[in-house]
Amino acid sequence: SDQPIRFADNPVVAHRGAWKKNNLPENSIAALKEAIRLNCTGSEFDIHMTADDTLIINHDPHYNNLLVESTTYRELVKTPLSNGEKLPTLREYIRAGLENNKSTMLVCEIKPSRISKERGKMIASKVVQLVRDMKAQNMVMYISFDYDMVLKIREVDPNAHVQYLNGEKSPEQLKADNVSGLDYHYSVFRKEPGWIGSAKQLGLALNVWTVNDAPGLEYFLSQGFQYITTNEPELLFEIIKQKKSR
Ligand code: MG
Repeated sequence: SDQPIRFADNPVVAHRGAWKKNNLPENSIAALKEAIRLNCTGSEFDIHMTADDTLIINHDPHYNNLLVESTTYRELVKTPLSNGEKLPTLREYIRAGLENNKSTMLVCEIKPSRISKERGKMIASKVVQLVRDMKAQNMVMYISFDYDMVLKIREVDPNAHVQYLNGEKSPEQLKADNVSGLDYHYSVFRKEPGWIGSAKQLGLALNVWTVNDAPGLEYFLSQGFQYITTNEPELLFEIIKQKKSR
């Protein structure tokens, strides 16, 4: 796992996996496998921790109307996803992401804790430790809205690729804290277009969420973004293909 991985040579990050076109549940293993099949450079997913400290994959703080942080894994897992799949644990998700995959990065969004900042940092440490236990460090990148979590990840794994999501920190601030990149809402780059150039100068990775329309995808492609996070990976591949044939 010490070998650097050459991820697919495209900027396409499937947001919550590639779910939309085939009507798969978001954040399902099926959606991850579809992103891998499409050869996306990354597939994003969201992590929460249950009341009994199980890391699970789900976007919302609630699953089936139960607050994940205050419900046990046993209780949550009683309800399958809409495609019949079991609610995935982080371990199961990473295991699936390591299977027959040498080109799609696993983009782990660690969701902030609503209980406490301390719990949030503990969750971040647990995620990094599990990734390490599974020898998946080189397949993973971390993203978070919670800056304390970002700093915690950096502290626990000095080599981890970690990007910040919330949008209010300048590239200079991120660089000073040794954060790897910025993954900001597209409106932030419209408001602060200068941040694109300064991020490049500082050697920070540029990522943007969540761009789903052709003009937006074309704009961020033209700006040379290394990553573009989208619910429409097939559309972004089509635009890239058309550009190359022009
Ligand atoms: Mg997410």
